[in-house]
Amino acid sequence: MVRRGSDGVPVESRHRGPDVASHSLTATDFINTDEQWSTHNYHPLPVVITSGEGAWVADVAGRRYLDFLAGYSALNFGHRHPALVAAAVDQLGRVTLTSRAFHHDLLGAFCRELAQLTGTEMVLPMNTGAEAVESAIKVARLWAHRVKGVPDGTAEIIVADGNFHGRTTTIVSFSTDEVARAGFGPFTPGFVVVPYGDLDALRGAITSRTAAVLVEPVQGEAGVLVPPPGYLAGVRAACDDADVLLIADEIQSGLARTGELLALDHDGVRADLYTLGKALGGGILPVSAVVGRRAVLGVLRPGEHGSTFGGNPLACAVGRAVIALLASGEFQARSRELGAHLHAQLQTLVGHGVAQITGRGLWAGVHIAPGGPTGRMTAEALMARGVLCKETHAATLRLAPPLVITRDDLNVALNAITDVLTR
Ligand SMILES: *Cc1c(COP(=O)(O)O)cnc(C)c1O
Repeated sequence: MVRRGSDGVPVESRHRGPDVASHSLTATDFINTDEQWSTHNYHPLPVVITSGEGAWVADVAGRRYLDFLAGYSALNFGHRHPALVAAAVDQLGRVTLTSRAFHHDLLGAFCRELAQLTGTEMVLPMNTGAEAVESAIKVARLWAHRVKGVPDGTAEIIVADGNFHGRTTTIVSFSTDEVARAGFGPFTPGFVVVPYGDLDALRGAITSRTAAVLVEPVQGEAGVLVPPPGYLAGVRAACDDADVLLIADEIQSGLARTGELLALDHDGVRADLYTLGKALGGGILPVSAVVGRRAVLGVLRPGEHGSTFGGNPLACAVGRAVIALLASGEFQARSRELGAHLHAQLQTLVGHGVAQITGRGLWAGVHIAPGGPTGRMTAEALMARGVLCKETHAATLRLAPPLVITRDDLNVALNAITDVLTR
């Protein structure tokens, strides 16, 4: 009889760690092949992962690490969660792709369950996060034109300084990160950037042509930044006053990461549209969606938008298993409880090499004090201590372990983090 933890992961294997295939090639061999044959648009840590289970991964040499990045929150349920793997394997034996030219037997159930989970009315399934954001932008523009009466081609969308919404040409057009934007022009017009957290600036930017405000309830890439209290409710009120849509990009902040299903739930605020992604695919395949009000998503007519893979049977099968995990509330509770512990421990580092801790739930930005090591150096030191995470910008570490992590494993990582940051 296999004893399983509350996350469904066998307790035995959690302590033993994942099985590791023996390889004759070293990490350097794999890294050299990557360097030669794959484009250099990332700067990964020099670790070569071969297996993962729960919060743990193992490398080619059989060394184990706690995964404190969790696929940028795509792995909220850990590596190879048994319920998610079972759903995928089961569906692989039935049908994986039909395209939307035909109906299949899982699309309706996936959309209904996702709408019911999120308290919304309609679902537009896509694949990657950037596609969900692109789709939300298109829907908001179409809504502004057809419903609000904004002349076609003139709609504006207000976004926040420091935003991260993906990598397409339109999305990088309104990025304020020059590394992500410079050189990729000409850029898509129709976006207005205001400072994050500044309600007066937001209200001042709204015009009769404004279709939507697009905002991350917590800015992940910017350093896990939580806006000032009342800001998100204020954005909602500003949108209501001017007949403007509120689009919440919850691709990283949503699906239990902050301790609520959606990060906006902390403020009791509802968006007109939400973009979801990352954890919606259970760390198995890309699954994203725009969910929201029928009065908005309902503007789309046949042929106006689409995706070959969006809403495919395999994605729906895994997505439904993800929804079932989230419906239990267990992962939200884990994030709240373990997140409180994480933040309490990290707070003790402030003044000891750490300038500030930001974030919510099992998600933290560790802002290294000026004059200290870079985020990259810190991430490399943590890797040597068996904890994998990644810097965001020069001097901020983003900590986002899988929500299945145990308190003991969290403490193991906290000890390493404390040693590395305070030495
Ligand atoms: C990751 C992310 C995206 C883009 O998702 P991809 O799947 O990488 O295209 C968009 N918005 C936010 C907030 C994200 O964190």
